[in-house]
Amino acid sequence: MGNKVLVVEDSRAYRNYLVQQLESLGCHVIGCETYQETQQALETHGEFHFAVLDYCLPDAQDGEVIDLVLEHQQKVIVLTGTFNEQTRDYFLAKGVVDYILKDSMASVSYLLPLAKRLINNVNHHALVVDDSQTVRRHVSQLLEHQYIRTTQAVNGSDALHKLAENSDITFIITDHDMPSKDGITMTREIRQQYDKNSLAILGVSGSDDSTMTARFLKAGANDYLNKPFNHEEFYCRVHQLLDMKEATDNLYRMANQDALTGLWNRRFLFNQVCSGCEKRSIAMLDIDHFKKVNDTYGHDGGDAALVTVANILKIYFPDDVVARFGGEEFCIQSCSDNKEFIARLEQMRQRLQKTPIKHNQQEIKVTISIGVCSLEASLNEQIKIADDRLYVAKERGRNQIVATG
Ligand code: GH3
Ligand code: MG
Ligand code: MG
Repeated sequence: MGNKVLVVEDSRAYRNYLVQQLESLGCHVIGCETYQETQQALETHGEFHFAVLDYCLPDAQDGEVIDLVLEHQQKVIVLTGTFNEQTRDYFLAKGVVDYILKDSMASVSYLLPLAKRLINNVNHHALVVDDSQTVRRHVSQLLEHQYIRTTQAVNGSDALHKLAENSDITFIITDHDMPSKDGITMTREIRQQYDKNSLAILGVSGSDDSTMTARFLKAGANDYLNKPFNHEEFYCRVHQLLDMKEATDNLYRMANQDALTGLWNRRFLFNQVCSGCEKRSIAMLDIDHFKKVNDTYGHDGGDAALVTVANILKIYFPDDVVARFGGEEFCIQSCSDNKEFIARLEQMRQRLQKTPIKHNQQEIKVTISIGVCSLEASLNEQIKIADDRLYVAKERGRNQIVATG
């Protein structure tokens, strides 16, 4: 089940629209019409990922529902009919995540990206770098308020250590003026290892120096923010940074992954050649008589078989590069010990042979032939040799491994 979300809105049409839109993001939405219903929903359901609240309800016309939901420690997005400086300060002081002017159905186009952000933020881990403990705490609190995990570092050198220790850090928010490595120097050093897509950096500084923005950006920061900043600007910048990062990550996945099986594709395999290891093995695998599977069970049945084979490969070779090479051909690049690799291939072959693939109340059985090359050579040469051995395995009767020749 998706993230649980509370929607309070007295207009039935608008509520239904909100529910439907949030459900399209995979949320499990609880809809309420009144203050009283909201009270019950909070008692019944407990935690929500966030709540979308109408300011004015028939039985609570002055935003009482906002206080109610905030008292239950929930993240709140307010839908309000009016907007001015006063309402803005009022809502921010209360600690709501954001407020949206409810002027038309179109305002939902602001709500949805925000909802998506709150959902996706749980996948992000920020490194907050500043020599001032007050700033570090403040920034971390702002991020955690929107479900972003944080780690703190007290200067540039400390940040590089923390980064090495936490491989899941997705972005950095850094000050410039710090003892023991300033923010710009740190950014430049990080860029030798991580590009802007794999690790986003937001520079922040209170310096009057007018060249600061350009220096941060030229050193490789994705964006820059002046200190002091207001909350709204801070969140806008962070959201933009993360939206961009996720879009690039998706693009990378689409370009390098096979849509049907989720395995890497051929392009990834050739860009990802392992050169550091002394011994790299290549296995070429091909499903036996796959045409017959398609002829007997239809193309859907064939697809189901491909997905199952891919899943078994993922289970048996979690540390290796497993790619769908073509139609029903797979390629594994492994840097583990050659004998162990072949033994594992053999276990996998036997497992596949014993695994019936369920499809439309029928059971499909497939086997696989495998050619392996562990000779030191270029990737192309290794693939050629493994492919020749695969052909020999087919000739010898299929459902077997050929690792010598
Ligand atoms: P062999 O044991 O010699 O490998 O015989 P085979 O039938 O497996 O080999 P062949 O190369 O003659 O046929 C492969 C078939 O795989 C032909 C093609 O239609 C099918 N195929 C390729 N890609 C897909 C796919 O994405 N889905 C499905 N269902 N079938 C596919
Ligand atoms: Mg400082
Ligand atoms: Mg085949």
